[in-house]
Amino acid sequence: MPRNAWPLTGWDSFTVLWNISFRGVACERIIFSGLRCERGDRLSFEDTNYFFGRAMDVMDVGGNIEDLLVTPNRSVSVKIPLEMDDGHIRVFEGYRVQHNNARGPFKGGLRFAAEVDLDEVQSLASLMTWKTALTQIPYGGAKGGVTVDVRELSKGELERLTRRFVNRIHEFIGPQTDIPAPDMNTNAQVMAWIMDQYSTLHGHNPAVVTGKPLDLYGAEGREAATGRGAVYVIEELLRDEGRDIKETSFAIQGLGNVGFFAARFLGALGAKIVGVSDVSGAVYDEGGLPVQEILSHVSGGGLLEGYTGGNAISNDELLTLPMDVLVPAAIGNVINESNMREIRASYIVEAANSPVTPKADEHLKEKGVIIVPDILANAGGVIVSYFEWVQNLQNFSWKEKQANTELHAKITEAYHEVRKLAKRRGLDLRTAAFVLAIGKVGKATVLRGIY
Ligand code: NAD
Repeated sequence: MPRNAWPLTGWDSFTVLWNISFRGVACERIIFSGLRCERGDRLSFEDTNYFFGRAMDVMDVGGNIEDLLVTPNRSVSVKIPLEMDDGHIRVFEGYRVQHNNARGPFKGGLRFAAEVDLDEVQSLASLMTWKTALTQIPYGGAKGGVTVDVRELSKGELERLTRRFVNRIHEFIGPQTDIPAPDMNTNAQVMAWIMDQYSTLHGHNPAVVTGKPLDLYGAEGREAATGRGAVYVIEELLRDEGRDIKETSFAIQGLGNVGFFAARFLGALGAKIVGVSDVSGAVYDEGGLPVQEILSHVSGGGLLEGYTGGNAISNDELLTLPMDVLVPAAIGNVINESNMREIRASYIVEAANSPVTPKADEHLKEKGVIIVPDILANAGGVIVSYFEWVQNLQNFSWKEKQANTELHAKITEAYHEVRKLAKRRGLDLRTAAFVLAIGKVGKATVLRGIY
């Protein structure tokens, strides 16, 4: 495999893997011959490429373009040494994968989690390429991550880790190059540290990162945007399906940034939320849970644990409850081969990234379950991140109402484009979404020219 790598020489070095050819040619062949391997409960680039491949099967695109579109442009892998509060040194792994920038600067979140590895980050970076294309915002796709259990870090350690990570990747990011944003276990404070560290190295530059605090060039509406966007999509879906939201039951997995706001907005619309969960447990009430009470219990980063209302159930049981709409808003691969036969929801709205594995997706499709894919359902975050970037570049700020109005317009337009194509071509929504996104990235690639 042609690959230019600088070997690690102590802590100040980094390794860059230029994926000029295709890192996973062997894997890709496996995917397209239908012999995929499963990777347990971890997100994998193969899984994203499975959905990509399924869309390519219904498109008329040459094999060369296929290779080009599936391959990340660049994967950066760094070592991040950190002096812990007690004086000992730990070295963490960090990644930034830049998947495709045919349509604009790379864009994508940064997650801090124990499961993060290069393969997962590649998978998420690729999803961002399709998400930004589908929603017609002028970006490509990227993702970053650090393999760390943030619960083991003090606030000071977290800040030093973030700043050190920026020191390692700053040459690869920038307002017109690659713009990180929050994802799992990273928040507005982490984005503020990134902005500050980048500005120390390159001069004042708020547009280098989005999802910043409101008091530091953040955008009104960004915090709630992913949950809000998912609910805008749910409203359109139910309208198309001839259903009244007040007569529709929901379960939401995860009460972090995405799940919390999805629950709040669904509750405000009068939806019957029969189950919610987070990492500490789950509760159920077939008559509907008191959502605002639960949100007050977990607000400010609290856990569901200790909440005494509803009936306590396990996290796994939440997914298989009798309900109309399941909203996975926590982690990846939660609906998989082990529980797909038990799923009773008629609709799954993927507020999290990759919550449904390819095998489960095929099974549920056969069963007639309608799945709104992640690249559409959770695109609200990156759409409002785009608005934040635009405001930063213009040294201007919008009111939240404007952000919400523009978000509604963009995400519902994408939803209807997907729905229309799915109907016209007899496709599931995920395949239709990928077909549209691949078409847009493919066109931009060809127009720019390959040299
Ligand atoms: P978060 O860290 O704020 O929240 C994650 C939530 O999931 C927490 O409530 C946690 O307790 C819960 N959780 C973890 N493991 C669980 C389990 N096994 N069972 C049930 N709940 C569990 O993360 P987030 O920002 O809300 O992101 C959630 C998902 O949405 C991720 O897949 C992320 O990539 C995706 N996403 C987030 C955004 C965003 O703007 N934050 C945008 C697009 C996609």
